[in-house]
Amino acid sequence: MSDAVETTDLVVVGGGLAGHAAALAAAGLGADVILLEKLERFGGSSAMAGGGLVFAGTGLQRREGVGDSPERLRAALAEAGRGHSDPALLDAYADTQIEVHDWLRELGAEFSLTGQPVRRLHTMPSGVLVGLLHRRALDHTSVDYRASSPVVSLLHAGDDVTGVVVDGRAGRTRITTRCGVVLASGGFSRSRELVGRFAPHCAQAVAMGGVGNDGDGLVLAMAAGGAPVGMEFVEASFGASAAAGVEPRLLYAQSDGAVIVNTRGHRFADERGDIKALGRAVVEQPGGLAFQVFDQAVMEMSRRTPKTRDFAAALRDGLLAEAPTLAGLASRLGVPAGALAESARGLSQPPYYGYACKAGLTSTYGGLSVDGLMRVLDTAGSAISGLYAAGELVGGFHGAGYLIGSALGKAAVFGYLAGRNAVLAPRETARNAPAF
Ligand SMILES: Cc1cc2nc3c(=O)[nH]c(=O)nc-3n(C[C@H](O)[C@H](O)[C@H](O)COP(=O)(O)OP(=O)(O)OC[C@H]3O[C@@H](n4cnc5c(N)ncnc54)[C@H](O)[C@@H]3O)c2cc1C
Repeated sequence: MSDAVETTDLVVVGGGLAGHAAALAAAGLGADVILLEKLERFGGSSAMAGGGLVFAGTGLQRREGVGDSPERLRAALAEAGRGHSDPALLDAYADTQIEVHDWLRELGAEFSLTGQPVRRLHTMPSGVLVGLLHRRALDHTSVDYRASSPVVSLLHAGDDVTGVVVDGRAGRTRITTRCGVVLASGGFSRSRELVGRFAPHCAQAVAMGGVGNDGDGLVLAMAAGGAPVGMEFVEASFGASAAAGVEPRLLYAQSDGAVIVNTRGHRFADERGDIKALGRAVVEQPGGLAFQVFDQAVMEMSRRTPKTRDFAAALRDGLLAEAPTLAGLASRLGVPAGALAESARGLSQPPYYGYACKAGLTSTYGGLSVDGLMRVLDTAGSAISGLYAAGELVGGFHGAGYLIGSALGKAAVFGYLAGRNAVLAPRETARNAPAF
């Protein structure tokens, strides 16, 4: 049976925050868009993340008296990247983020401000923003959203990318486009093969990104000549639950007073360190395993949001060992009682709790090389005609480190830029001219 054939203005690959932002931005300019999601459910990592996006100089910050600016945000992003961030991408983010913030608000987003040391995390509860954009996409007459539609290859005419092949439930479809293809298929945190190849230091980490984040876009674009950048920059986060058979989650009791010990009962890191520094420390421990150990005083600080501080839910879900004494807890955790008593001597209010955890790979920093218009670049630094990328798939932005809220921010900002630029870019040939 031959493949079905369709034509549209723009195809967007991936139904996370970046893909939805790209599709809506393009549709807002009058383009017809097909938004393809590999899985039955939309959302990817964007539906699982904490919920904050870094924006600076917004009306919300001004109303709440927070002194901030795009220049300060750009400097903070550059500092987090430890000198490895692409200046063109930092500029693209800093220059566009207020416009994207305002656009998201027009679409119905309601942010509250959180974050330290500057209150610039524009926060919505986990998954709510991508859910909102999904409803807007379903309501939009120019966006055709299709679930269970994995893109398996790109179509080419000479050096141009002209469409995609989808291998869906109903069979294979070739979709050709007038404006090009935006790849927004997320990172590669779920691909053992790609993590092993590009970031072997994270091979022991628990895979925690969206279950469709297998690096498909990376592989597709590289086959079309796209260059990878910063692939080695991957950092696992501390606090991923290590219980077998339960979907891993993050828990941070150390910020509220838990001590962190290894399987020998010894502390090995400063509990005040950030989750990436603690993540680096835990992978070096025996079995890559640690325990957050705390007492009832810490348990009483449990709160429902953020979920990372919901110790009561972790207890209910069977992720915590509990014992009336530290010696009893040591026995339940299988660590030497004497060493644990020494490490946890500040804890005094029974009962005692222990949370087994590893480093978790929530996202990857490296990805495709793009320019400030989100055009995918080849190894010579030239744009591949018709091919754009956005979101976690884009490399070179975070550099060697990541500012909390900049991955969700990057999905929204670069998705918006990719969708708009794919539609607005002057096409070289009449054959490709958009029909609207
Ligand atoms: C537990 C967790 C906590 C996090 N916390 C934060 C945080 O606090 N702050 C922050 O900034 N970031 C955080 N992140 C990272 C952030 O969520 C992601 O970097 C961001 O959401 C990526 O958005 P995206 O749209 O690029 O990818 P995703 O949201 O992952 O979407 C990609 C989509 O593409 C689909 N797809 C993949 N391959 C194909 C294909 N071949 N065809 C069609 N579709 C395909 C996937 O199924 C997926 O739905 C966290 C991530 C996780 C997992």
